Amino acid sequence: MAYEKFHHVDFTHFSQEKQNPMKITIVGAGLAGVTAAVILRDAGHAVEVFESRDHVGGNCFDEWINGVLVHRYGPHGFHTDNETVWNFLNRFTEFRPTALEVVANTPLGVIPVPFNDVSAGLIGDLSPEHIRDLIFRAYSEKHWGIPWEEVPRSISTRLPERRRSTDCRYHLDRWQGVPADGYTCMFEHMLDGVPCHLGCSPDEWRRFPSDHVVFTGSIDEYFGNTHGRLEYRSLDFRYESEPKRRYFQVNECNHQNPWTRSVDHSHWLGQQVENTVVGYEHPCEWEPGRVRMYPKAFGPNPERYKLYREAASGERNVTFVGRLATYKYLDMDDVIAQVMTKLPYSEAALQ
Ligand SMILES: Cc1cc2nc3c(=O)[nH]c(=O)nc-3n(C[C@H](O)[C@H](O)[C@H](O)COP(=O)(O)OP(=O)(O)OC[C@H]3O[C@@H](n4cnc5c(N)ncnc54)[C@H](O)[C@@H]3O)c2cc1C
Repeated sequence: MAYEKFHHVDFTHFSQEKQNPMKITIVGAGLAGVTAAVILRDAGHAVEVFESRDHVGGNCFDEWINGVLVHRYGPHGFHTDNETVWNFLNRFTEFRPTALEVVANTPLGVIPVPFNDVSAGLIGDLSPEHIRDLIFRAYSEKHWGIPWEEVPRSISTRLPERRRSTDCRYHLDRWQGVPADGYTCMFEHMLDGVPCHLGCSPDEWRRFPSDHVVFTGSIDEYFGNTHGRLEYRSLDFRYESEPKRRYFQVNECNHQNPWTRSVDHSHWLGQQVENTVVGYEHPCEWEPGRVRMYPKAFGPNPERYKLYREAASGERNVTFVGRLATYKYLDMDDVIAQVMTKLPYSEAALQ
């Protein structure tokens, strides 16, 4: 995929590499920040990470709850067709080859999604428009918090794929899985030797002078929200101890249940447990104090983001990467590829 180049940092000064290491501040210990830390540390620079949460990993963070490894910010299955990205992460963890499987709880019954030959066998074959209405309408209304008619056409007219197969994996990428010991453990390995300050205030990093900053927070916050806040949807998570479920993830394509999806986390590592932990996701608007989840790339936001991008292009010695700094939903492999594209010495990191 092509990445926008919205700022023009002169990277020639990075090329002094090990003879003249630079002091680099990284804001955020999510996948973008930690990938940048690996690349720059391996190129010989003195890297320091500042993170406002009390843990590393950003939204990929997981932890053990009642003997089950739970993805605390929603289900995160790694999937990619990018061999460079795959090899990069395999330096830090083994992967368990788990493929996410999703069913939709619809008014016509529970069916695998994306809609495939198994779904058709259960409720009959449907037109693309009927599939879209059945699977996406109510779900999107809850997800975005607006009536279907107001969901931007760029989202509502996207026709869901009708798979002519019985393959029930949600993603078809060549490589898929989850770190065998969890994401948090993988991040800790990646950060080996890198000082990482947790629980920082949002502006704490500004007090530490450095030669370069890699910023992975929300770009509006970097500029003090001068052009207005960028809007996001957020999620409230509810966790319940329940008997192990047959289904991995259930999407609620109806208005009876207010949550959008529920996930039995014991499936990630194939745990055979009697009681599991099920996470329920309740969508809500983002407001300070909540976690920014989905950029609302409609309404006033594209114009605001354009202004921030322009401001970013005038910043010297700052690199803006990650989903918050580029105000775009990015899968994990996209984030790693984006950081590799925007920072020099990706090759060094791969050796
Ligand atoms: C519900 C949900 C499910 C997802 N599922 C998948 C999936 O199955 N597969 C997949 O490939 N991708 C998935 N993703 C996408 C994945 O979460 C992202 O690609 C990835 O987390 C982005 O990493 P990041 O570092 O850009 O952002 P983040 O993970 O948000 O990390 C940014 C970090 O910066 C910190 N920060 C921000 N501002 C400051 C500041 N001023 N000072 C200090 N720290 C700061 C934040 O606290 C955060 O820890 C999902 C996303 C969501 C929302």
